[in-house]
Amino acid sequence: MAFWPNVVVATPAHSGVAEGLCYRSELLLAPGTLVRVPLGAREVLGVVWECPEVAPAGLSEARTRDVAGVLDGLPALNDRWRQLVQFAARYYQRSLGEVALAALPPQLRDLNNVQLARRLKRSVGEPATPPKGAADVPPLSDEQRAALEALADARAPVLLFGATGSGKTEVYLQATQRALAEQAQAQVLVMVPEINLTPQLEARFRERFEPLFGAGAVVCLHSGMTPAQRLASWLAAHTGRARIVLGTRMAVLASLPGLRLIVVDEEHDPSYKSQEGARYSARDLAVYRAKLESEALAAQGARCQVVLGSATPSLESWHAAEQGRYLRLAMPARIGGGALPTLRLVDMNHQPKGAVLAPPLVAAVAERIERGEQCLVLLNRRGYAPVLACHDCGWKSACPHCSAYRVFHKLDRSLRCHHCGFAERVPRACPDCGNLDIAPVGRGTEQIEEQLAGLLAEVKRPNGAPARVARMDADSTRHKGSLEAQLATMHSGEVDVLVGTQMIAKGHDFRRISLVAGINADAGLFASDYRGPERLFALLMQAGGRAGRDAAFMSDQGAASEMWVQTWYPQHPLFDALRRHDYPAFAATQLAERESAGMPPFGHQALLRADARTQQAAQAWLNAAAQAAPGLPHFDHVTLYPAVPLTIQRVANVERAQMLVESASRGALQRFLAAWQPTLLACRSLPEAKGLIRFAVDMDPLTV
Ligand code: ADP
Ligand code: ZN
Ligand code: ZN
Repeated sequence: MAFWPNVVVATPAHSGVAEGLCYRSELLLAPGTLVRVPLGAREVLGVVWECPEVAPAGLSEARTRDVAGVLDGLPALNDRWRQLVQFAARYYQRSLGEVALAALPPQLRDLNNVQLARRLKRSVGEPATPPKGAADVPPLSDEQRAALEALADARAPVLLFGATGSGKTEVYLQATQRALAEQAQAQVLVMVPEINLTPQLEARFRERFEPLFGAGAVVCLHSGMTPAQRLASWLAAHTGRARIVLGTRMAVLASLPGLRLIVVDEEHDPSYKSQEGARYSARDLAVYRAKLESEALAAQGARCQVVLGSATPSLESWHAAEQGRYLRLAMPARIGGGALPTLRLVDMNHQPKGAVLAPPLVAAVAERIERGEQCLVLLNRRGYAPVLACHDCGWKSACPHCSAYRVFHKLDRSLRCHHCGFAERVPRACPDCGNLDIAPVGRGTEQIEEQLAGLLAEVKRPNGAPARVARMDADSTRHKGSLEAQLATMHSGEVDVLVGTQMIAKGHDFRRISLVAGINADAGLFASDYRGPERLFALLMQAGGRAGRDAAFMSDQGAASEMWVQTWYPQHPLFDALRRHDYPAFAATQLAERESAGMPPFGHQALLRADARTQQAAQAWLNAAAQAAPGLPHFDHVTLYPAVPLTIQRVANVERAQMLVESASRGALQRFLAAWQPTLLACRSLPEAKGLIRFAVDMDPLTV
């Protein structure tokens, strides 16, 4: 007697292996069982997808290899997990194996059963520490209470539309507490865009739930962890020992057998969309996952809820709420009744020529420091200057490997490409003409930090100490622990002005900031991408949301919080909505524009992306695929646009091109793309596509 399990293994994208591979087994293996199977000369990790008793038709029984072993002691991955993976693979046009195996911790592949047993014992075996008495829970604001009550009855996905500082985190905490209290095995998944940027959130979850459920109850899951840590968290989640998983987008595919609530904080954040492998949207998968789990729980009268939180929701989610598909719960007021910052637009047409920081802004910053308040200065560009140039011959610091300039970093005197990482010391003289006078063009955070430190050199704090300016960006936080240390200097008041990229705008709960300035916002106003305004609005609202969070502090200071924006286009309508903190009005105008143009969320898009040795080959492959498309199912319902190079067309010597595919119907687009896959593979072997390195379908792309 034998069984013929279909096992899903990590197949490289587009290897042509669509679904699982068939093996032979003496034992009946439950679907979801983790196994080791031979593949070529190797032995690889796989997931049993199904296990029929009858060999599939056409299978050569003699040539079918045996399953090499079962991962002992691990419960099988459940049906909902497999359904989720299957959906993600179909929807994002990847192989099942690629999605399934990428969702498992990499270290699982390398452990033998003895090692695995040891890890399992460690993650499951410890007795939970006895409750130490609950943490302090603040009395809820009226809005928080109303939101929590409405949430209790919600059947649809919930959009928690809460102003910055309205106390969304407390709603997440209490919703979590309620979900966990309802059932002894219940689990909650809380997703954040970048966990390292918001250590406060993790601290609050630990503080609240470790006393109740023990030290192992809260685990994290994100790509910054070591393989061993990731495995430990995954095992804890999979075995049910972890009650709460805090994670980034990858966590949406974690095995959580008791899942009852999913929170997606800052749901509008682009980092929820993966940019490699299966390019999934973790937010969208979270909504789908909650639906799957709820369907399975319905028989027990239970369900799994999903809460998407933001002060500036994505237009997709906003539209879903407008249509009644999502339940919108609004919390417009800040905790403590503080006001949102007043917008001050600085018209750069009326500032001294060449001024990077407008004098009135510098004066306002100085005044805040003298009163003992803090400021944030936002500039979305790190380094000292985006380009170094020779004014004699026109040389510019181009990257030899990319169609981009290398950024001048003054601190370590390097020219660094932010696309491929290529770095060199700054040349002494122009490499082309020998001119010694090569100069930075444009500005980055290093330069703003330097300038502000100079401009504020004479400014004193209330205690007479000199003002201190610091910088926080991907460069200053590269080393482990440095981000936390920098945030700590801000929280303790050691630093008066923090200059930085968007990372300073994320969910930090700074208490003494009264002024936030965006100094180069215009790029977002006229971005070639249609999502430019949406991004800019969210970023400025989010940044402004760091100011005036402590109403008591602000009223003691007798000051009002302000959001300064330097712009050459103060009449731009985006600023009207920003001034009124009126996200709904902004969303309404954006949605109207999108609707008339048939753009998402009204129309649906996918990108076919090609990487090749030459731009010609990339485009030739795209064009060949397009030429072969007529006649495919649903072709009449899709529009194929011409192949174009990407904005940055070459990165690390790889040429990149893409083709936009649009349809008014999501289903038609899906089915067309699926039907197109064999053509895409076949076109690889055309002579004109020689040099094609890889291709990918990006469903619901964030930038086109
Ligand atoms: P959001 O995420 O909505 O911007 P937070 O969740 O960070 O806001 O809350 C803002 C601040 O208000 C935090 O310092 C938080 O501790 C505090 N807070 C939240 N809810 C309450 C409450 N009910 N009573 C007192 N303080 C609260
Ligand atoms: Zn020169
Ligand atoms: Zn480069």
